[in-house]
Amino acid sequence: MSATWIEIDLDAILNNYQEIVSHLQPLSRLMAVVKADAYGIGSVEVARVLQEAGCEAFAVTTVTEGIILREHGIHAQILVLGPVLKDELSESLQADLLLTLSSLEQIEDLEESASSLGKTAQVHIKLETGMGRTGFVYENLEDLARALGDCSWVKPVGIFTHFARGAQRDRTYTQEQYTRFQRGVNRLEELGMPGLLKHVCNSAAFLDYPEWHHDFVRIGTLLIGHVPAPGFAGKLKLSDPWLAKTRIVHLRKVPKGTFVGYQSVYQTKKETQLAVIPVGYADGFGLIPHLIPQGFWDFIKIVIKNFLALFGIYLGGENAILGGHTVPVAGKVGMQLTILDVGDRPCQVGDEVIIPLRRTLANARIPRIYRKNKRIFSKRGIEEGVLPFNPEYANSNLG
Ligand SMILES: *Cc1c(COP(=O)(O)O)cnc(C)c1O
Repeated sequence: MSATWIEIDLDAILNNYQEIVSHLQPLSRLMAVVKADAYGIGSVEVARVLQEAGCEAFAVTTVTEGIILREHGIHAQILVLGPVLKDELSESLQADLLLTLSSLEQIEDLEESASSLGKTAQVHIKLETGMGRTGFVYENLEDLARALGDCSWVKPVGIFTHFARGAQRDRTYTQEQYTRFQRGVNRLEELGMPGLLKHVCNSAAFLDYPEWHHDFVRIGTLLIGHVPAPGFAGKLKLSDPWLAKTRIVHLRKVPKGTFVGYQSVYQTKKETQLAVIPVGYADGFGLIPHLIPQGFWDFIKIVIKNFLALFGIYLGGENAILGGHTVPVAGKVGMQLTILDVGDRPCQVGDEVIIPLRRTLANARIPRIYRKNKRIFSKRGIEEGVLPFNPEYANSNLG
């Protein structure tokens, strides 16, 4: 058994799914975004429970991600959102993945690949409306229609765009993007492509713009129990499926004034206990995304935080939870070992500690333990048919 593991409650994901579906407009369906291994949770495990619950469509970023789902029994629609390279076309068609069409150059290769396999390539057209990433702009649409008109094996079935600022309070930019999307859809209708399936909403837009749910909403963040920004908290009853745990591997009593960790940035203020846990930045622990200030006051806050850090004062540093109590990380997080200042809390080597570990940063090496309907599975254990029920985990206060 690993000293560090992540417990994942698949029932929580199922609850989130039902909660989201209950807020869908009548004709809209949920496309579950399970890219990046379902944001670190496990794409196969998440897709399997959702498919069982009736989810009809999934989305991933890459062909490889889509093929993994197919190989593990996901027979629902799978849309590959990202651009696909020429040498990936054949395998993606064979796996019946829906591809995203985002440039004219792709079309000829796709036609060739599809015709040589004798298999129609169904595609969703991506419109670029303000994300600045991939897709067709309005001026390309005539060429697009002409190129598709020359194809016998490429069939557009859907059309979508992606919002850059969905999670922001100011709606102007998002509304502009939507206007561009509608203009593009109308233009393609004029050019002889009516009836495409439309989808624009990610988690944030799903909550903010019910009138834009269209045929599908593409949801990732809400499914895994997060909200896209703090302002969305409480809009849905979501459950958090994720709990990362490790165990104390070393414990020592130290006097006041002891320097702790790399660069000695931490010094104990009184006699205390230092507990070592076997996680660090190699596991994704203690990593935070690069902060971009959201406005002037936020900028000032970040400056102050960094200024105080020069003097060894850390605001909002990492914490862990030991026996229900918050304990601070002492000093810098190491590569694989981190030190906690646990004060005089009663504890011993081997005790469990709950750690904050961002889902998408948590290293894939860390074992995931899944729970569904009171049963416990290892990763991929579901389709292996083995249910390695481990009484040790059963006692470990899952959730
Ligand atoms: C990631 C992604 C989504 C899902 O976004 P969430 O905010 O996590 O729901 C939807 N659409 C596209 C194109 C994406 O890349």
